[in-house]
Amino acid sequence: MNATTTQDWIAPRASQRTATADSRDARAASNAAAADQSGTVYSERLLAVDRVSLEYRTRERIVRATRDVSFDVYGADRFVLLGPSGCGKSTLLKAIAGFIEPVSGTITLDGERVRGPGADRVVVFQEFDQLPPWKTVVENVAFPLRVARGCSRSQAKERALHYLDKVGLANFADAYPHTLSGGMKQRVAIARALAMQPRVLLMDEPFAALDALTRRKMQEELLRLWDDARFTLLFVTHSIEEALIVGNRILLLSPHPGRVRAELNSHQYSLQSIGDSIGRHDFQQSVARIHRLLFDTDALTPQEEHA
Ligand code: ADP
Ligand code: MG
Repeated sequence: MNATTTQDWIAPRASQRTATADSRDARAASNAAAADQSGTVYSERLLAVDRVSLEYRTRERIVRATRDVSFDVYGADRFVLLGPSGCGKSTLLKAIAGFIEPVSGTITLDGERVRGPGADRVVVFQEFDQLPPWKTVVENVAFPLRVARGCSRSQAKERALHYLDKVGLANFADAYPHTLSGGMKQRVAIARALAMQPRVLLMDEPFAALDALTRRKMQEELLRLWDDARFTLLFVTHSIEEALIVGNRILLLSPHPGRVRAELNSHQYSLQSIGDSIGRHDFQQSVARIHRLLFDTDALTPQEEHA
């Protein structure tokens, strides 16, 4: 990899980041953006993770999950945490959700220190059993709106039906979760999360348990939903391909304990990238490069090493 390529590839420091890279991202930033005198668009920083170390303490030992992880997520980002199994991705997401407290470092959302769970952060998990089975689909989506958002019964139902329609499940509103396929259950979980209109939507390998075709379709749908609503997404995966498709920025984490290895811009890739032969070639090269960055420390240039 030559130096020029590396410069293009490694993202600028978050504080210098602009959303001018492509029109899609520039539009994405416009919700929460201000233009300076040069016309450069800066989007608003929502989430700041600063030198966060996370541990599990059992009676026998301490398991260090992440060490000194820092990153910033901006309004309308599709920010991906990518790393091998066990590198602490889920633990980081749980800490951001407020379920685990860092042993050192800070997590702030809109400038406020995260000190516990809150409706401003909603998590979609990998497991299909995240929906209470005794509630119908529409009740599953409406219930948290009543409890955490203070909606009336009718407001909650109306909003739930709106989001179920967005994920293509309007006809299944009165079905029970056990009658749905895995992909449909994940769509309900996504509708439920989006209906809450969180500041950041947290997704922990939401499509990992789906078959390959359904997974691709769900990635496509997630991007379509994002295009429509421009929510801020923090998405965890161990799949390099999925990270490139879903993300506009990717944070690479080293194996256990997770440390930041590099931050990449990936807004140039989409599902179309793998559709045509030139795009596919470029995409495959990026997959190989990320693979090297993740697993082959010898192949790193000094710049990559310190990115
Ligand atoms: P990832 O999501 O990247 O696969 P995790 O965040 O689940 O990784 O786990 C990070 C590390 O913390 C792993 O070594 C894992 O074994 C350990 N770990 C996860 N959950 C617990 C727990 N409840 N108690 C002790 N160790 C845990
Ligand atoms: Mg995990």
